[in-house]
Amino acid sequence: MAVEFTLNDEQRLIQKMTRDFVNENITPDIVRQWEHDGDHPHSIYEKMAAQGLLGAPFPTEYGGGGLDAVSYAILTEELAKGCSSLRTSISVHGSLAGSTIKGFASPEQKKRWLPSMAAGTKLGAWALTEPGSGSDAAGMSTTAKLEGDHYVLNGTKSWISNGGIADYLIVYAKTNPALKHKGISCFMVEKGTKGFDCVGVETKNKLGLRSSPTATLAFTDCRIPKENLIGKEGDGWKNAMHVLNHGRLSVAAGGVGIAQAAYESSLKYAAERQAFGRSIGHYQLVQAMLADMDVQIAAGRLLVWNAARVKEAHERGEATRDEWTLAVSRAKLFVAEMSLKVCEDAIQVHGANGYTDAYPVERYWRDAKILGIYEGTNQIQRLIIGRLITGLRE
Ligand SMILES: Cc1cc2nc3c(=O)[nH]c(=O)nc-3n(C[C@H](O)[C@H](O)[C@H](O)COP(=O)(O)OP(=O)(O)OC[C@H]3O[C@@H](n4cnc5c(N)ncnc54)[C@H](O)[C@@H]3O)c2cc1C
Repeated sequence: MAVEFTLNDEQRLIQKMTRDFVNENITPDIVRQWEHDGDHPHSIYEKMAAQGLLGAPFPTEYGGGGLDAVSYAILTEELAKGCSSLRTSISVHGSLAGSTIKGFASPEQKKRWLPSMAAGTKLGAWALTEPGSGSDAAGMSTTAKLEGDHYVLNGTKSWISNGGIADYLIVYAKTNPALKHKGISCFMVEKGTKGFDCVGVETKNKLGLRSSPTATLAFTDCRIPKENLIGKEGDGWKNAMHVLNHGRLSVAAGGVGIAQAAYESSLKYAAERQAFGRSIGHYQLVQAMLADMDVQIAAGRLLVWNAARVKEAHERGEATRDEWTLAVSRAKLFVAEMSLKVCEDAIQVHGANGYTDAYPVERYWRDAKILGIYEGTNQIQRLIIGRLITGLRE
């Protein structure tokens, strides 16, 4: 497969448009206030929707931007430079909830849900994790029982980004617990459905992503129309694993954005801060940290863009599902570790000032930590890569 990483004019435009939007609307001072409030104001979603940022990855036939995968990675990186909480929210909306519907819903269901999601008037969430099952997601306890024309959901989902604010929630539940992962199905639960409640929200008590409300959701005899089953009964696990490739690509692109922001702040600080009669940027040990950041970020970005290209090749039938999964897991694992290290060095470059919230680098470091936990931990990515490169599956 040819590897070509020169951005075309359209991609440069998307990069500039998103960068300008972030510089105007998502500055460090604004994000500090969002962290204090524990949420984003609704107005930022409206502004993003108007700019086409919320609908960017949705198909044009439903009113979306129909962006190619590299362009979307570029947009995601720029957004994460401003605020990783907001980037998480948008990725969950488009890459997890949106991709589930795009990939597995019936034509009628797509018509029902996609236009408003692409327009940004409805927000999506994606609920797989439970209090007792994270990495071992197939160990979930939530059940869905068919009773007449309805499925009845019972169980709890935890750590759900957008969970308390979303209009459309993709929820995984067991329709046949005896079949383990083959008994998992996927459902749409709309906000306001009786028996569905948001019972807890984590915001400022988290290490990072403090302006992303992460919710615990309870389903108690929650009846949803059987038309809200997405795909076939028992196909939920297969489709969740597929959709996670989309989500992980977004996480990796976001991680490059956090690292880039930390690096840019460090470059500026190194030029300004004086020690021993000259700016600290003159000192080679400081330059070494900046050089390592530069190289590591460039490597991470190339892995992300490569994974985006393999994704498109897969969609054209020119790359296998395993090739796509490998490319995505490599990118997510590398970027999760790279981003954390870059942010740690960025704090070092900023000295004591980096240890306070006067500069955004401490937030970047806090926000980078989650990249190696959600949507498959670093250990899980290593297991996936290990299985794929050895061909040995348990
Ligand atoms: C801020 C935030 C937002 C989130 N958003 C969402 C969301 O929108 N939707 C959603 O469904 N979930 C979401 N999650 C949940 C997240 O995906 C899980 O936390 C993650 O999958 C890890 O699961 P766990 O926390 O249960 O850890 P565990 O699975 O309990 O893992 C604990 C440790 O054990 C290791 N481990 C587990 N199994 C193995 C193994 N087989 N081999 C080696 N090591 C292993 C892990 O790598 C980890 O280090 C979110 C979490 C957070 C913190």
